[in-house]
Amino acid sequence: MKHLTLTFIICFLIALPHAMAQQPGWVLVIHGGAGNITPARVAPEKQVIYEAKLQEALTAGQQVLAGGGTAMDAVIAAVQFMEECPLFNSGKGAVFNAEGKNELDASVMDGFTGKAGAVAGVTIIRSPVEAARRVMDSSQHVMLSGKGAEAFAREQGLQMVDPSYFHTDESWQEYMKVKERLEQEGRKGTVGAVALDSHGNLAAATSTGGMTFKKYGRIGDSPVIGAGTYASNESCAVSCTGHGEYFIRNSVAYDVSARMLYLGETLEQAAEYIINEKLKSQGGAGGLIAVDKNGNISMPFNTPGMFRGFVKQGAEPRVLMFR
Ligand code: ASP
Repeated sequence: MKHLTLTFIICFLIALPHAMAQQPGWVLVIHGGAGNITPARVAPEKQVIYEAKLQEALTAGQQVLAGGGTAMDAVIAAVQFMEECPLFNSGKGAVFNAEGKNELDASVMDGFTGKAGAVAGVTIIRSPVEAARRVMDSSQHVMLSGKGAEAFAREQGLQMVDPSYFHTDESWQEYMKVKERLEQEGRKGTVGAVALDSHGNLAAATSTGGMTFKKYGRIGDSPVIGAGTYASNESCAVSCTGHGEYFIRNSVAYDVSARMLYLGETLEQAAEYIINEKLKSQGGAGGLIAVDKNGNISMPFNTPGMFRGFVKQGAEPRVLMFR
């Protein structure tokens, strides 16, 4: 009996660090877009506002995770906060296409179930990321676009708005600037979030107005599962931002996961390689945020800056903009 008890205690002590290592605690990472974000281009008073808004977005998701909520609920909360904030290129702050209209894209993916949802080219749904989630949860499909997506969102009882809701002076000025072929300064960024919850599940969400002056009907990487968004409990959760055509052609979000699984790379190695070597060599500007199943995070970008922030269980949140 004594012998058995001793064996049990030894086994327990051996297993304990392993069990603890398997529960890294919850993690949330967000981005508010990558671009020409440098101290010279962002006035100090504007930097304070950006940092405060990133911090509030982190808090929105952090509250979900700290309360034992799911990674999916957390990424939706963080992204929805940014969709409501005119500073970012998603929801309220969406940029204008070449016709002077706002067409929004969003997607979500659940790393536990492997389910995903997306909407593309929508013009009257207040929260595209919520619509993406409904496509995942309440339809047989992964992606709905345009009028079909809007009819579905209406059926689902989501809040619809007049297209003028998405008109912000900043986005309009940016549109006029690009229209006049002037230098594109301080481009507003897409938003995204990835999370690992206390149950060990991963999720990712991305929401955008796309690229300023994009062609009417153009769809970028953000609503494309595997390009702008990906999550799998086997590997990691990823949300991208940048020149969408490059992210689609390179299946960037999925490639991070594939490199980890097939090549045995760490999250950091995979993410760094794709953004700072592969995409960079092609001229594809942008970045991504990612968290792996062990709670490691990576936030590479090949642009001058990227709005980003993260918070881990038991640690202080951090928000960053520049290199
Ligand atoms: N990736 C987005 C798109 O191409 C834009 C961005 O992230 O800024 O639509």
